[in-house]
Amino acid sequence: MGSKKTNVEYIMEGDRLNTFKSWIFSNRHPCNAQKMAEAGFIFIGSKQEPDLVKCFYCSKELDGWEKDDDPWSEHVSHAPYCKFAARKLSEEDMTLNQFLDIIYECRLKRIEEFFDQKLNTLDTLHALAKKKIGN
Ligand SMILES: [Zn+2]
Repeated sequence: MGSKKTNVEYIMEGDRLNTFKSWIFSNRHPCNAQKMAEAGFIFIGSKQEPDLVKCFYCSKELDGWEKDDDPWSEHVSHAPYCKFAARKLSEEDMTLNQFLDIIYECRLKRIEEFFDQKLNTLDTLHALAKKKIGN
């Protein structure tokens, strides 16, 4: 699950929450499924990794959660570069403009990722071509 891709399809909190079908902590604890979804996380775990989650925005993967963890704080401290986490805004508290900004940033990231991939391919081809010509 090392994908660096932005998961734009999980931009809605409700869709993220739906991934937490079998979260390890109940709603009595601060680190509950609702708070995890609110803080941008989607569940990507398995039997072997029962608490592995990933940010839909920055793709940071985190596990080793404690029941008293605050998902926002953990997100910010492990991914200080994440603009979504830095806002610390649940969907409920967001203005429409803030929400649109996030959609825009996600799209932009997708485009950047696309061009990065193309550039990498070009670099590889360039290196191959140089090898063929050079020797
Ligand atoms: Zn993030």
